[in-house]
Amino acid sequence: MAEAVKVVNQRDQIRNFGVIAHVDHGKTTLSDNLLLAAGMVSPNLAGQALVLDYMDLEQKRSMTIKAANVTLYYEYNDKPYVFNMIDTPGHIDFTGKVTRSLRALDGAVVVVDSVEGIMVQTETVTRQALEERVRPVLFINKIDRLVKELRLTPDKMQKWLGNIIADFNRLIDTYAEPEYKEKWKVSVQNDSVAFGSAKDRWGFNLSVAKDTGISFKDVYDIYTGGDVEELRKKAPLHETVLKMIIQHAPPPHVAQRYRIPKVWHGDLNSEVGKAMLECDPDGPVIMMVTNAVVDPQAGIVATGRLFSGTVHEGDTVWLVNTRVSQRIQSVQMFMGPYREVVGMLPAGNIPALLGLDKARAGETLSSTRDMIPFESLKYVAEPVVTIS
Ligand code: GDP
Repeated sequence: MAEAVKVVNQRDQIRNFGVIAHVDHGKTTLSDNLLLAAGMVSPNLAGQALVLDYMDLEQKRSMTIKAANVTLYYEYNDKPYVFNMIDTPGHIDFTGKVTRSLRALDGAVVVVDSVEGIMVQTETVTRQALEERVRPVLFINKIDRLVKELRLTPDKMQKWLGNIIADFNRLIDTYAEPEYKEKWKVSVQNDSVAFGSAKDRWGFNLSVAKDTGISFKDVYDIYTGGDVEELRKKAPLHETVLKMIIQHAPPPHVAQRYRIPKVWHGDLNSEVGKAMLECDPDGPVIMMVTNAVVDPQAGIVATGRLFSGTVHEGDTVWLVNTRVSQRIQSVQMFMGPYREVVGMLPAGNIPALLGLDKARAGETLSSTRDMIPFESLKYVAEPVVTIS
């Protein structure tokens, strides 16, 4: 277990991200692919990425992204990375759920269907992400449709995709704050745009194209009579997407410097303010609960983003909105879609805490009573859902 804690202590090697999309553009297919390809490896085995063998194929197939959080593991340039893929509801409702889960993440993969292009919900979720200072990258999905349905030649495909990228950057122009408008625009040149097929499990960006020699002509040829396995082998989807996240989504301590002033309205010069800006593992415990469910065996499981401090089993925390103190019975982290007991977790991670039976989504947990919550008391207390 000490090994897992070592990885989660390397803040540079943590990414908290989400996948957002207009309905039917491929969010579930992409998320499942990432989970199946990178969710089975245990961070316990850092440095010697071994696939967990306790899951048989049937179990792997039946895994879907219903968990509040799923942890992925991938090694890049000999460094192990831990990715928390946090679920964001696809639709907008009035309970603030979308915004709440966006608060826990620092980067977002925006999935766009290549035939449909930017749609209403693409615009809404991208705007919300930008409003929370969550940095987007773009994955243009269903490239197979451009060949099979629209019959576009490689040249026309590139022009078509160029227009989608331009449309997406117009969203960034419209909704990003002045400081981020230029910095956060996506481009093929800096590898913040990837193209692929989530269904067929391949994807590439410019670097991957250069490294593998894949071109849009190959894509065209393959979908007009070739074997898609070739694309899958040369450019596995999960590798391209996870590398894009490593490169463009900031690690938690970098993100919190500019995100905390936006998502929290307390005094930034106070002890908790400073500790959250620094993502300080030695600061007071401050965690925003983004999800609370009932596990029939374990009771309430409160999952969220730990912005400051370190949570330990046995610690008592103050539930700021509910105004009660409760004891943490167990500190767990996700491994793939499953929870594993780790005993403690430092700032920047996404802990799952047991024992806080009064905690609900939207709650702020704190080691100090003098804390301005992330969401004020007027938040809607939701019924808790039992997970089966
Ligand atoms: P979500 O609503 O965004 O989660 O979308 P899903 O992942 O459920 O995908 C919607 C539909 O698009 C499903 O029928 C998928 O099989 C299909 N789909 C996903 N990726 C691709 C792709 O790359 N190409 C094609 N042609 N269909 C895809």
